[in-house]
Amino acid sequence: MDFFDFHHHKKNICPGIYNLEKEEIPPDSLYSIGIHPKDIRTESLDLQFDFMRSRISKNCFAIGECGLDSFVSVDQKIQEDVFLRQIYLANEFGKPLIIHCVRKFYEVISFRKKSEQAMIIHGFNKKQTVADDLLKNNFYLSFGKPVLYQLSLQDTLKKVPLDKLFLETDNDDFNIEELYQKVSEIKKISIEQLQQQIVENLETIKNG
Ligand SMILES: [Zn+2]
Repeated sequence: MDFFDFHHHKKNICPGIYNLEKEEIPPDSLYSIGIHPKDIRTESLDLQFDFMRSRISKNCFAIGECGLDSFVSVDQKIQEDVFLRQIYLANEFGKPLIIHCVRKFYEVISFRKKSEQAMIIHGFNKKQTVADDLLKNNFYLSFGKPVLYQLSLQDTLKKVPLDKLFLETDNDDFNIEELYQKVSEIKKISIEQLQQQIVENLETIKNG
């Protein structure tokens, strides 16, 4: 069975969701397309959205990564406007949202009710309380490399329901099989069960 990589930036990794680079031609495999907070260009926003629309095809699994980032210099209000527009786009096309969030979890939660689609926080590595609040609001959490060595995150992962979970490599250079191995130990299930669960979760979010 597959070691599905929910969010990555390396071309030709299958199976998984490749995060399309700016202005790139979509691949024949699954990808996501979005405007990352750092890529917001206020002077050409409409063009950025037109471009996105033109690139949303059958292989486009999700809108994103998009979201809010307190370390990016783009004004917060503008970040929120661009995030909201992408939520509406996801509603229009019936695609889940892959969310990038840095120190803005409560603001992101406040947008939850605007979305008719699943919202997945990618690269989650924050405290239990933040995870609890996200889960309470029906977010999914995607975990990456830090799970391999961060003990507090392993504890958090223990309490994340299996049907709210994804695994990813993001920008990190490591083999995702290692992560499946680790998570199957933490969750006390077999790797096959974990793989099967991820497939089911993908089906669930695909169907809204
Ligand atoms: Zn990423």
